[in-house]
Amino acid sequence: MKKPNFAPFKALLKKSNTIVIVTHWSPDGDAMGSSLGLYNYLLKLKKKVTVIVPNEYPEFLKWLPGDNKVLNHQTDTVKAEAIVQKADAIFTLDFNSYKRIEKLGEVVAGSTAVKVLIDHHQQPDKFAKVVYHDVKCCSTCEMVYNLIVGLGHKKLIDKKIAACLYTGIMTDTGSFRFPSVTANTHLILADLIRSGAVPSQVHEAVYDTYAYNRLKLIGYSILQKMIVLPGKNIAYISLSEEELNQFNYQKGDTEGLVNYPLTMKGIKFSAFFSEMDGKVKISFRSKGKFDVNQFARTHFGGGGHINAAGGKSDLSLNDTISKFLEIVGQPEFTA
Ligand code: 5GP
Ligand code: MN
Repeated sequence: MKKPNFAPFKALLKKSNTIVIVTHWSPDGDAMGSSLGLYNYLLKLKKKVTVIVPNEYPEFLKWLPGDNKVLNHQTDTVKAEAIVQKADAIFTLDFNSYKRIEKLGEVVAGSTAVKVLIDHHQQPDKFAKVVYHDVKCCSTCEMVYNLIVGLGHKKLIDKKIAACLYTGIMTDTGSFRFPSVTANTHLILADLIRSGAVPSQVHEAVYDTYAYNRLKLIGYSILQKMIVLPGKNIAYISLSEEELNQFNYQKGDTEGLVNYPLTMKGIKFSAFFSEMDGKVKISFRSKGKFDVNQFARTHFGGGGHINAAGGKSDLSLNDTISKFLEIVGQPEFTA
């Protein structure tokens, strides 16, 4: 594999003192892990760093070191925008199109700061001057690890940075099981453990902190709401805003739900539709060759990876599902 060239990063860091890190809408474990991993590293280089998220993220990520300093653009708009305006460099992590950070996109695009992209999703837009893009990496956290090591700073990885990076690798690989996982991923994990990440603690913090209602919602979704399409290798789950409210929905409660249909033998393509604030968000997952990034891009204004992608719809929940069924119901459609 070709080694990434980190010389532009080195040069940029030399001349940048005030740095902003931005990650995607509805940040997940990899988004927050990579952002805070990089944040804790840049603090060690004596930079003035701020992590800005476009909107709220789940409670189960709020233990990550540095979390208490994160700014939410939706609730801290004025402060966040002032910091973006003053930045020398803006690192955009775990996304590759301004569309993915909604209103914050215009603010970042309008700033004179040097834009940096570190990302592993398919088909990046060209908005950054300094780019580290690799769809083969299992996570953006793996890329931040490679960057720190590539800059000759492996020794700077302490237990805070290690815990952040371990978290994103764990969540983006479905706990080390997706095809993106390689021997090298495990070598990186081993190194992070040696640097102080404690696997059992990270797993517990992320996966064993469900609220009672979250587990009930999973049960309800599988028992009452999962539809397997006859004669196809496809299954889906949908939840209306009313149903989510019945289970006192909290941010992150439906994370991972889309994976359950794929645990059934023969199912290769799974979709999860959820309605929030009158909008429909869709998650797609596949096993094998079926490219959900392309599917999400073509039909639902989204994108992502070959086996994991997302999109949205302006139609009602029922009309969105009808649109989906029409596409996948075509006799020639196979996943
Ligand atoms: P999730 O289904 O967990 O929200 O997202 C799955 C993957 O697709 C993640 O890597 C996420 O960043 C990406 N993704 C989710 N929603 C969108 C979207 O609306 N647009 C694009 N381009 N990517 C998305
Ligand atoms: Mn990721």
